[in-house]
Amino acid sequence: MIKSPFEIKKEICEIGHKIYDKGFVAANDGNISVKVSENEYYCTPTGVSKGALTPDMIIKVDKDGNKLEGKLNPSSEIKMHMRVYRERPDVNAVVHAHPPIATAFTVAGIELDQYILPEAVLTIGDVPTCEYGTPSTMEIPDSLEPYIQNHDAFLLENHGALTVGCNLTKAFFIMEEVEFNAKICKYAMELGAVHEIPNEQLKKLMELRKKMNLPGRHPGIEIEEEHSCECGKEELIAEITRKVLAQLGK
Ligand SMILES: [Zn+2]
Repeated sequence: MIKSPFEIKKEICEIGHKIYDKGFVAANDGNISVKVSENEYYCTPTGVSKGALTPDMIIKVDKDGNKLEGKLNPSSEIKMHMRVYRERPDVNAVVHAHPPIATAFTVAGIELDQYILPEAVLTIGDVPTCEYGTPSTMEIPDSLEPYIQNHDAFLLENHGALTVGCNLTKAFFIMEEVEFNAKICKYAMELGAVHEIPNEQLKKLMELRKKMNLPGRHPGIEIEEEHSCECGKEELIAEITRKVLAQLGK
């Protein structure tokens, strides 16, 4: 069913209220956009709290972020949304927020790459940290480049998070999942141990993802080889080296 412009604007406001109520943004932070055609996108305005959004505030922009309709002006961070749409034709919605715990991981210099919850392994995998960039410049869109094709969730160093989806609900759910995963990881760290899901179980989750035919991009999972194999290899190399040296010494 095709949604009317008003329904799309209303949905953007509802998601805006949710990210504000959940404490994923402060003051006027954060921005949301939805693609309606190759050259038409709805987005949130600059200078308005996501908790106070109303449909009449939503702006329409073209693929370069220029305003087509609306009283207010588009968010200064619209450039990173437009970069996502340019690089990922499968994406129809983008959410940017500053979820505090996931953002704190980037501030602490800790990667959010622990495989601790099956839901998060299935839907997002590890979340890359994109190099710090000055907001509103091309530095942030550029920082997404190395990861944009293989992920639906990104952390922005010392800044926040960006999530994408085939629709706005999906993009928002991924944002929630990123923060929830970071929260559980932080709690486990505070309790003193982070036990990750074992390799065999991770493989099963990846098979499940294939079977379920889940939408979006996923980086896959890096399954570490058994450590003993590496030791074995090192011992073998040392043994060969000893033998070769012995031969040369003769
Ligand atoms: Zn931001």
